Amino acid sequence: MKKRTFIATIAVALIAGASIFVACSKEDSRNGYAKSDTDPISEEDCFTIGDQLENAYSVTNMQKAYDTLRAHGMTDIVDVHCTHLYVKFYPETPDNYHKLISDTTLDLFDFPLDHEIIGQGALCSKPDDYNVLYTVVPVNYEFPDVRHEILEYCFIPDENATEAEEKVEMESMILTGNLTPDDTISTPPSNPDKRWNWFRLPAKKHPSGNFTVTNTENGAQDPLVNTRVVAFRLVKISHTYTNDNGNYYQPKGFRWKCLYAISFRNTNSFSVWGNTTIAPAFYYMGRRDNGGYSTNIGQGSVAFPWATINNAACKYIKDIVPAENVTRPPYNLRIWSAPSMPTSYSGNAVMANQMRSVYAPAVTTLSAFCDALTGFPFIASMYLVLPDIVILNQDEDYFTNHHDTNMNPTRYFYKNVIHEMSHASHFAQVGAPYWGQYVNATVANGGYGDDSLGWHGMNGFIGVGEMWGYFFENWNLNNYISNLPNSNYNNRIQLFDRNRYWFRPHILDSLCRRDGLDITPQKILNCMTVDVTTVGALKERLKLNYGTYGRDIIIESIFNCYGF
Ligand SMILES: [Zn+2]
Repeated sequence: MKKRTFIATIAVALIAGASIFVACSKEDSRNGYAKSDTDPISEEDCFTIGDQLENAYSVTNMQKAYDTLRAHGMTDIVDVHCTHLYVKFYPETPDNYHKLISDTTLDLFDFPLDHEIIGQGALCSKPDDYNVLYTVVPVNYEFPDVRHEILEYCFIPDENATEAEEKVEMESMILTGNLTPDDTISTPPSNPDKRWNWFRLPAKKHPSGNFTVTNTENGAQDPLVNTRVVAFRLVKISHTYTNDNGNYYQPKGFRWKCLYAISFRNTNSFSVWGNTTIAPAFYYMGRRDNGGYSTNIGQGSVAFPWATINNAACKYIKDIVPAENVTRPPYNLRIWSAPSMPTSYSGNAVMANQMRSVYAPAVTTLSAFCDALTGFPFIASMYLVLPDIVILNQDEDYFTNHHDTNMNPTRYFYKNVIHEMSHASHFAQVGAPYWGQYVNATVANGGYGDDSLGWHGMNGFIGVGEMWGYFFENWNLNNYISNLPNSNYNNRIQLFDRNRYWFRPHILDSLCRRDGLDITPQKILNCMTVDVTTVGALKERLKLNYGTYGRDIIIESIFNCYGF
């Protein structure tokens, strides 16, 4: 597979960086480590799509319900008309896809809404049509230039609906066989003559609750932060976001049970992908009481990596960026929670979508490259999604055999997310052309390379980028995840390993910890401008900017100490 990396186009670099060797090695090689490529989801933690249901909200069915009530004596006037469209999108290019996903008003589902859902968790297996998305839009929605099909014209009474409209809605739910005895507090009369003036509609409730995720570092249940949560029943959909405490309150009320899900899109302008389709990671939690649902996502859950990555990314953007005053990662960041793979790498910051506009023509050639790959079922969808950051999962053996005995799943995800987000901060400063060379260099080396290749030329991009990535990851990790002391020796000692980290991230750590130098991570990142493409150039820039009163000599000596 590495042979492919010699096709040194940026397009190849993008996908190769994302999928084959991944740019950021985080751990030493683990001989004999191998895992299936797809991480099959356990049957207890996935759902399948069952029989089609009658859509109670179709204009046709709502009209039928209204007519039935009228025939039995209802005198109220209801204007049954199309308020929403139930649609299916067929994005075919990354630009197509970008148009859909950047419209945050859309709730994108990778399965049809007018079907039974059996089970809970993630979608069990990749549907044949992985590249379609279902959603419901207002009738006046301005469609982007993306192929789509209107599946049904719908009448969905809104929050200001009259009681008569809501009775029509309920009548339609009954006539289409959608209401079951467990749906209502008291069963409506079976005779329509009585039903139309049955004034006790079941109580309307706004689903609310709290979502948390297990923190394996300290055993706590951390709030799921700023994440999109969805309540829906057929084509009626409500969404909102959890607050900093994991609490949510849906803006739309439901009079009967609804379906609960988390769609891992975050108010801090990033999303997490993890399913084998192009919808953001989707965790379905079943049909529940309309009053609300709360749960904790445990370590064994298919949503555990998504929730933990979500929280770690929030931690970086909301806490680390302001506290350290470093450049914020770009907006609309796409993070792919990938299956574990037989590789010693565990993540990358390929920034594929962020580079999309600059390299749009080249990116279209990704398709052919993806076709050539086998055994990676998520690749085809990755071509549309173009992840910016990839975080690989790990199986239990990884933690059992880890050289750092403090390593655990939550810590692993925080460590890797902070590392890749550090790269994203660097990217936000240097831009796509610089990043293209960085990715290409990593492709050409099949990884980081080593100092036998020297640290100039293309290797310089790796040296500067990874030196910063490892340093800033370690600088922050314990402050934001751990109950361990900040100067955890196990973490810092790894930075000395010349074979693993030829670019010596410990230099930056030493600069920041040296009394009298007054160098901070922010000051280091400020020096990492688009013209700083070698470790030597970084050293000179630090000396130039912060080298007064003889500090340049100290900076020089610290770099020299580690071979630069
Ligand atoms: Zn890295």
